[in-house]
Amino acid sequence: MGTDLTVTITGLPDEKVDEAAADAIAEVERIEALMSTWRRESPLSLLNRDAGENWVVTDYEILKVLEVALHYARLTGGAFDVTAGPLVRLWGFFGSEERRPPTDEKIAEALKKTGFSNVEVDPDHVAVRFKVMGMEIDFGGIAKGYAVDRAVAELKKQGADNSLVDLGGNIRGIGSPAGREAWNIAVRDPRDRTGILGILQLNSAEGNWGVASSGQYERYFEYEGRRYGHIIDPRTGRPVEGMLGATIVAPDAMTADALSTSVFVLGRKEGERLIESQEGVEGILIIPRDSGGVTIRISHAIADKFQLLDSVKDAEIEVF
Ligand code: AMP
Ligand code: MG
Repeated sequence: MGTDLTVTITGLPDEKVDEAAADAIAEVERIEALMSTWRRESPLSLLNRDAGENWVVTDYEILKVLEVALHYARLTGGAFDVTAGPLVRLWGFFGSEERRPPTDEKIAEALKKTGFSNVEVDPDHVAVRFKVMGMEIDFGGIAKGYAVDRAVAELKKQGADNSLVDLGGNIRGIGSPAGREAWNIAVRDPRDRTGILGILQLNSAEGNWGVASSGQYERYFEYEGRRYGHIIDPRTGRPVEGMLGATIVAPDAMTADALSTSVFVLGRKEGERLIESQEGVEGILIIPRDSGGVTIRISHAIADKFQLLDSVKDAEIEVF
């Protein structure tokens, strides 16, 4: 999945830890093998190859994740859209050569091959079809969260009830670290590859939680002084601007993953409205200030769980 996986297990005897961790890692690898679009023979790649021509019978889990993705596409008016793949590819964040923005013509062309409403699903036959040739599904905005949820389910089976899985910032914890009350989750400073803005303390005594963060810091290129990131607004065909980061806390990691990408695309006003409308969902938005520095907008239910780092001098917190 092009990112790092960390499994943290506490409160288990050493010999059990290896086994539990191995199961969690194997589960993430299994889902990667299913849903990768980098691997040309993965079931999702095969679906992408053929669904423009015919109904394709696919894997049950692919269908499940697709249905969740389509739910969030409808909920966000297409801000979250797993058919944005041709645009992501066009903007080309995955090569190492020098990048420049594509022409308007190319963007318009790629836009024709997107649109969640062009995906048809036949749940009874576990089949999918695209209404337009050249479309593709890219689970980059949701599959990591799904994989984390599945990995945590494996940990539970092994009795690792105080553990945490972190797949590239898609995190789910259960229980609490041995001897402590809550998990400390670092919220990254989206302006800087290694910096941290603050710590979010999450305790599963208050219910299940998953966390996900989206930002243009993971994959981007710079051209003539502007930064172009890997999260595309499917409504314009261009990378989102004006947001630095969005962190979502939700009852599970897949929901958090889909919503962090969604909120990032929607921006402050609509993003906050979406957070408020969803049961059990909280969020942190990091927005650049004209005068320099950032505003951290945090939903009220988690405001007292977030601690800004003392070393961060140019951030202002606002609660919504
Ligand atoms: P995340 O890091 O979860 O926010 O997901 C970002 C990834 O999702 C990108 O690298 C793309 O693969 C994909 N993506 C980009 N834009 C969108 C979008 N508007 N909706 C859904 N997925 C997207
Ligand atoms: Mg996401």
